[in-house]
Amino acid sequence: MTALLVRCRSCRREYSSDELRKMACLDCQVRETTAEVRADITRQLNRAVRYRRTGGRFNPEILDRLRSRLLRRILELVTDPRKALELADREYQAAISGMPGAKLLPSRLEVARLSGLASQ
Ligand SMILES: [Zn+2]
Repeated sequence: MTALLVRCRSCRREYSSDELRKMACLDCQVRETTAEVRADITRQLNRAVRYRRTGGRFNPEILDRLRSRLLRRILELVTDPRKALELADREYQAAISGMPGAKLLPSRLEVARLSGLASQ
């Protein structure tokens, strides 16, 4: 069977029809499904920076939980755990890139720690 070329409804790039789900490519699906969690990560990171400035204590587990949530969202779309982790890392990096608090986080390591979660 020949796959049809179809445009993703979101980014308008062309894909073969079997790569699309609900007319969206994987990248766009991932972006959509993680938008809320990414916004939360940005918010919490801002809080972490604020707390640090004022000498307050910020519980880093909050960010851990958000990273787990990010990965779980992606695992609903991608069954290959390694691919899901790679995408989770990418979305996480996108959420924190350019933020003043980003360097407070050993992000890659912590995402790697989530691999246990992905393989469950
Ligand atoms: Zn797309």
